[in-house]
Amino acid sequence: MREASLGDRITSRIVRMQWGMLVAYAGVMIVVFAALSELALRRSLAESADVIESLLTLYADPEGQPTSVAPSMLADQLLTMSERFLITRAVSGAGGARTVYYLSPSMPAKAVRPPPGATPAQVRDLVIHAITRGGRWRLRVLHRQKGDFDIFVAASRGPAALAVAGLTIVALVLLPLAALLARRATGRAVTTALVPLVRVVADTKTVGPSDLTRRIHAETGIQEVSVIAAEINRLLDRVERSYRALEEFTADASHELRTPLTHLRAQAHWALAEHRTLAEMRDALSAISREVDQTAKMIEDLLLLARGENRQLAMTSAAFALGDVVADIEEIAQAMVSERDVAIVIAPAGELWALGDRDRTRQVLLNLVTNAVRYTEGGCITFGFHREAGMVGVSVSDTGSGIAPEHLDRIFDRFYRAERSRSRRYGGAGLGLTIARLLAELQGGHISVGSRVGVGSTFTVWLPAATVSEPPPGTEPPLAPGAH
Ligand code: ADP
Repeated sequence: MREASLGDRITSRIVRMQWGMLVAYAGVMIVVFAALSELALRRSLAESADVIESLLTLYADPEGQPTSVAPSMLADQLLTMSERFLITRAVSGAGGARTVYYLSPSMPAKAVRPPPGATPAQVRDLVIHAITRGGRWRLRVLHRQKGDFDIFVAASRGPAALAVAGLTIVALVLLPLAALLARRATGRAVTTALVPLVRVVADTKTVGPSDLTRRIHAETGIQEVSVIAAEINRLLDRVERSYRALEEFTADASHELRTPLTHLRAQAHWALAEHRTLAEMRDALSAISREVDQTAKMIEDLLLLARGENRQLAMTSAAFALGDVVADIEEIAQAMVSERDVAIVIAPAGELWALGDRDRTRQVLLNLVTNAVRYTEGGCITFGFHREAGMVGVSVSDTGSGIAPEHLDRIFDRFYRAERSRSRRYGGAGLGLTIARLLAELQGGHISVGSRVGVGSTFTVWLPAATVSEPPPGTEPPLAPGAH
């Protein structure tokens, strides 16, 4: 489908409106002009009738006898009037019969013979009909009765009709011209108004993957366009951040994967060298196997992170007792410290119920315990339970090496290891805490950390406290937040 340009669409809408308004304006003007002409005609007829009326009372019949024609004095006066008019007079004792008293020279003359016994009103109608014969619309007739007299004043509508016709023709000729001029002016105005938008589009086109730092000019002079420009800039900010994160991730991941591959290649070459004994080859193979396991674990962790960050990780949300989860991993923790002088201590759990995914929480705690064991040579690892403002938490404290303040902010970053060589030696890829924090956040919680070098570290997983009154089958009921 071919799409119309915004400028064309706006212009044609405005032009259509302008056409309608111009036609309506011209129509109204013509109608008002015609109505005013008719009004003026009526007033002029009424004024003439007034003058005739006063002349009739001024010039009485000689000796007071009703005559059938106007006395000469009156006739002289009436002759000076420019209107066309007719004065009839009732014939005394003859019913509706009338006699012409005066007929102005320009008035069309025609004998009217009313049927015998016609009423004065019928005779009057016959007279008006005779005057306006040949086109009632051409003449306007005013009738006035004054005693025995009937005064008929007539005026032509011709000049007014001519003026209306002239006005209509002028409107018909000028309308298309006016519309054409209005269309041009509108087109130009719309094009000018759209310039900022066109500029924003052009600016946006210049932003590409090679130059993601570029931003478009957000002060366009038109509020709505400026809002669009600012939104595009914000979108570019987000795209740039994601792009940089992706770049960083690709660089980190390829670096992290290259290291074990280099080790594997070196071990394989060493094993393949001549004169290797069976025992040496077995050692090399078991080192290769360990390296492959670590790499596979790292790839699994990366996939888990990718799925979690894209919200594609299946998470359940149900009430579970934090004490149960800790009891669950106690055995594993004991196994981890079996060859060290480290004790596992579990504080009394109380009735602490969290709302979230039990298995994922177990995974988070396992990551924390693994680290605690990894970085603690002697002393103890303690599990504690906490409640605070609608959240419940489990802390894992150790008496290990501790973390220097400059590393504390970054230990949750992907692939970040405070002591790179030591961490790798223990099989750490720098993903454990990143995964732990992501899994806590996906459940609506977070992880807090406190540490002192040489004293130890405490990591606490906080999760929303369960508020449900019905516990899952086979479990104790959870307490409402705030209860101890
Ligand atoms: P790794 O797999 O290397 O342990 P993590 O993401 O789990 O990666 O931890 C990141 C870094 O944080 C570790 O390399 C280590 O330096 C530091 N760290 C984590 N937990 C502890 C702890 N309990 N004691 C001391 N340092 C820790």
